[in-house]
Amino acid sequence: MIQISENRFKLAIKSLQSESAYDNFINKVQQKLNDYRSNKVVIYSNDEKKILTSSEKADINRIKEYKIKNSTFCYQYLEIIKDIKNLVCLNPFKLNGLINKINAISISCKEIVKKQFLNDIEELLDYKNFRKKVIPLFYNLLGIKVCVYCNAQHTIFLRGAGLGRYQADHNVAKSTYPFLAITLSNLYPTCNNCNHLKSKSPLDFKLYYKIKSKQINYIAYLEEKDIVAFVSGNFDESKLSIKFRDVPDDFKNTIRPLEIYENHTDYAADLIKKKIIYNKTYKDSLTKDFQELFPSNTKGAHNKQLFDRLIYGSSLEEDDIHKRVFSKLNIDIMNQLDQLSPDKLKY
Ligand SMILES: [Zn+2]
Repeated sequence: MIQISENRFKLAIKSLQSESAYDNFINKVQQKLNDYRSNKVVIYSNDEKKILTSSEKADINRIKEYKIKNSTFCYQYLEIIKDIKNLVCLNPFKLNGLINKINAISISCKEIVKKQFLNDIEELLDYKNFRKKVIPLFYNLLGIKVCVYCNAQHTIFLRGAGLGRYQADHNVAKSTYPFLAITLSNLYPTCNNCNHLKSKSPLDFKLYYKIKSKQINYIAYLEEKDIVAFVSGNFDESKLSIKFRDVPDDFKNTIRPLEIYENHTDYAADLIKKKIIYNKTYKDSLTKDFQELFPSNTKGAHNKQLFDRLIYGSSLEEDDIHKRVFSKLNIDIMNQLDQLSPDKLKY
């Protein structure tokens, strides 16, 4: 439900590349993949590790090597994903191109070989370590602190405990495309509930946008007649209903934004009251009286973001949408209230 610019992604990737934890991960996995490509290693499944004796392992080695060496599918697949750095840092707008390349090589390959091979890829890419060492660094650099689907829960990292209070949702499922397990542009920070609700079903939603005007945003709004009734005192805040325009059905049925937000009509009621109380004259006088709290920017204008954050709980700028919960709701409802004629709000 919230989207951020591709530029923010690029900047975070650039900073990530100077981190030693990132370098260590890339070098280690690249080496493992190179060894695998040159048939220096064979990956065992956990079951195989438990039950096989060393001579049985040696037999299995030969069988696996033979199958993989002789499979055009495996060879071509490995060629496409051979550069780990590229796989991790892939631009969000190049993701489909990579998927298409993999789809194009779905030439005949025995299912059992394919299954074994894809298990090997998953093991080689070491997602477990990636999740622990690289993802927290990246999310921190990206600055996203809220679930990108519901925008109603925080997604933060507890540095001291080394724990993430978030989940990394694979936008394109890693069960279908295991090579995308460690592609950062495919990993969306979400709360546990949304990740669980979404599960493996694909969603018609992309986190990154290239051009601001092309942003796809599902707009929250209130019925105008409800706002008027609420302002006139004829309407209890629990009767306000937060609606969304242009929400795709898949999103509606999995993440259930309407049901989440029906629990938060008090936020919408507060926004209406704040819109009435903090009119332009009052805002100007507050920023003048408390100049040190809202320092001017380089152009001499007072810091609007700081003021909005204090009053509305989050900035009303689209560029700051990823920092606080309910920021999307705040922006959309305030935009709607700004467009209402003042007599409807009785101020
Ligand atoms: Zn969520």
